[in-house]
Amino acid sequence: MAKSNGDISRRELLARGIAIGGAAVVGSPTKLFGQEAASKSADAHAGANALHELRASIRGTLVTPANASYDARRQLWNGMIDKRPAAIVGCAGTADVMNTIKFARANGLPVSVRGGGHNVAGKALRDGALAIDLTAMKGIRVDPKAKIARAQAGYVWNELDRETATFGLATTGGTVSTTGGGLTLGGGIGWLMRKHGLACDNLLSVDVVTADGEFLQANESENADLFWAVRGGGGNFGVVTSFEYRLHELETITAGPALYPPNKIKDMFRFYRDFTATAPDSVTAMAGIVQGPPGTPLEGDLAGFFQVCHSGAASEGERLVQPIKAFGPPAMDMIGIMPYTTLQTLSDQNFPVGNRNYWRSNFLMELSDEAIDIILERASGMPANAHSALFFEHMEGAVGRVGPEDTAFSNRDAKYNFTVLAGWTDANEDERYVTWTRSFGDAMKALATGAGYVNYMMDDEGNSRVRATYAGNFERLVAVKRKYDPTNFFSGNQNIAP
Ligand code: FAD
Repeated sequence: MAKSNGDISRRELLARGIAIGGAAVVGSPTKLFGQEAASKSADAHAGANALHELRASIRGTLVTPANASYDARRQLWNGMIDKRPAAIVGCAGTADVMNTIKFARANGLPVSVRGGGHNVAGKALRDGALAIDLTAMKGIRVDPKAKIARAQAGYVWNELDRETATFGLATTGGTVSTTGGGLTLGGGIGWLMRKHGLACDNLLSVDVVTADGEFLQANESENADLFWAVRGGGGNFGVVTSFEYRLHELETITAGPALYPPNKIKDMFRFYRDFTATAPDSVTAMAGIVQGPPGTPLEGDLAGFFQVCHSGAASEGERLVQPIKAFGPPAMDMIGIMPYTTLQTLSDQNFPVGNRNYWRSNFLMELSDEAIDIILERASGMPANAHSALFFEHMEGAVGRVGPEDTAFSNRDAKYNFTVLAGWTDANEDERYVTWTRSFGDAMKALATGAGYVNYMMDDEGNSRVRATYAGNFERLVAVKRKYDPTNFFSGNQNIAP
């Protein structure tokens, strides 16, 4: 009998045994799921029995290609990614993660780790691997007195934001609320970062399951080397099953976008450069280019956008955003006081699940006139839809006050992160948009620090890019990797090889 969630039950798994093993044989490179054709049938049996064992050892769900829910469960945010895991383990808790890793190790199976499934390179799944899916692990506990939130690793940011905002508290999260906790492991750029640091700078402690399936806690006083590495080093060192974040009093948020017509874009970037040169840490600002929204005077044109977030007293916010409202003037001005949770969800609709996506990012030390000229020249090839954009994120402030060696995230002296991203739906357009984005990113690279942002990195950027991004921290990361994951069991990430 199937479990009510539609995934496979122990009895059903046993009954369907060979079929399940057989399905998993396809494309699997592993010993367990069929190594040689001659022993396929025996392997299928062994595979079914082993899966039965795995199912019996977990509280959560096990989905194989034989299950109706398989395709839905392997969908990722980026529609270009079409990975077929051998099985998806929907972990219900830390014990399931430990048992799955032990099972994978015992059976020579590779694994992948899925948090919110938003990684643009689709790192959450791998062909033929066991997918450790954390999405059911959504417990969040806010301690309002201590100003701490503890979140199981399957949360997405709108869930954490809602819990903390209820207590008048917040921590730095991403700027699109549907991304998952994996954002923290790559750094975590967000609206509160110039005041309170990156998401990873607000981490107090993590629970980690290591490559041998053991449980560890890592913080400043316990396994401090691991704690250093997970703050920017991505999913290289283990599966984080719980994040503990420092929270801050939620102040009044004066925020939102202003849009400018095409003939003002060049000046808008110069104005952004001046604005960010003097902005206090209470202000985080982005500027870029999008398609003019439908039903507005900018429809059909490229529009400049300037988006801001001030957190602090309303009167101070009003004064600080005034120059943006006065510049131009904007064709559309939506800057005003709003709840933090509204700001966090403002851009969600532009990033739907299933679109095809390709991104490039570069950290820059300055916004030069040369950069502006390149941007204006290249922007004309941008897909004419609401899902493509290019933008600067102003770093510095509390981000820059953390030393480059204090956490694994080393790009502390960069002034801006510049990203160009294309989103589209027609697979026949892949080459056009990938080529446009890649060559735009390469043109900007010549003006950049050499580092990209690991959270925005594509697979084809290569290991040399990962190495360049970690710069002076790379060798130390390799040493931590050797200690906690000497066989590179966790390799489905922006990989730091041991
Ligand atoms: P998933 O795709 O689930 O996982 C990606 C990889 O991260 C995994 O393969 C694994 O290697 C690792 N991982 C995830 N969770 C864990 C865990 N618990 N333990 C160990 N490893 C883990 N980034 C920002 O910094 N700021 C933003 O504002 C921002 N906005 C974004 C908006 C959109 C629309 C998208 C698609 C991405 C955005 N990102 C942003 C990038 C985002 O941070 C990364 O894509 C990040 O990997 C997403 O986390 P996830 O949990 O959803 O990832």
